[in-house]
Amino acid sequence: MDLQLQGKTALVLAASKGLGKACAMALAAEGANVVIGARNQDTLRAAADEINALGKGIAVPVPIDVREPEAAEKFIKTAIKHFGKIDILVNNAGGPPFGKFETFDDTAWAQAFELNLLSTVRFSRQVLPYMRTTGSGRIINIVSLSVKTYLENSVLSTSIRMGVVGMAKMLSNELGPDNITVNNVAPGLILTDRVKDTLPKTVDFEEALAQRAKDIPLKRIGRPEELAALVTFLASPLAGYITGATIQVDGGAVKGPY
Ligand code: NAD
Repeated sequence: MDLQLQGKTALVLAASKGLGKACAMALAAEGANVVIGARNQDTLRAAADEINALGKGIAVPVPIDVREPEAAEKFIKTAIKHFGKIDILVNNAGGPPFGKFETFDDTAWAQAFELNLLSTVRFSRQVLPYMRTTGSGRIINIVSLSVKTYLENSVLSTSIRMGVVGMAKMLSNELGPDNITVNNVAPGLILTDRVKDTLPKTVDFEEALAQRAKDIPLKRIGRPEELAALVTFLASPLAGYITGATIQVDGGAVKGPY
């Protein structure tokens, strides 16, 4: 299937590794040019080199911290300088720390808000004039399956990402007339460094993976490219009638009927 992404411009945040990098790779493999951002210049450059080695869409690395108020402007300026337009925004960032409700003070809440909601607000707001000029747009937010089901110790992530889901629903209504779609993709357990870091070191790696997957109907942890496949489809013109949706990629882990 031709996803019709050749020559599109995609901004992918937090893309030096993990889910963001997988999304950037998948979009570039379909011919989209990608502007990728993360904090560490060296890992970001290495990710761009890897994407450019595919010989499809071009990757431009822009070192940014998505929490900084000026990050969106810097990022978007670079994208316009290189490619002249913006078609797709993939909002992503690192996740806030895990822990019980009473372990987090006001500072931890404010940091989670800045990292996962305010960054999404700023980037989304600032791409809109460019998407309107193009006559269409795709905004895709990476959230978490915890917006659909209980996930232990995820009070910061869940509370803040509920805000992202609410914002996306509002935007999907407001931006529908501009042909700009806004959707959320909710990863279940997908094997990235964030997940590897939480595996017990006392057992063999494969055994630890199997243990973590025992309650997942598909009996395995997902691969980043399996989440990236959905993001790439939602970013394409073929997904033009999907907006305001939150879709999980979780091997069936969300047990509710929605
Ligand atoms: P990861 O740790 O593998 O990668 C995180 C990426 O974010 C890296 O590129 C890092 O450099 C970048 N980053 C972190 N803070 C940043 C900042 N302030 N500014 C710019 N870049 C920043 O994590 P991941 O597993 O790819 O997770 C991505 C998102 O998906 C996170 O918000 C995570 O909470 C969420 N999520 C992941 C899973 C999973 O199973 N992997 C499940 C649910 C939710």
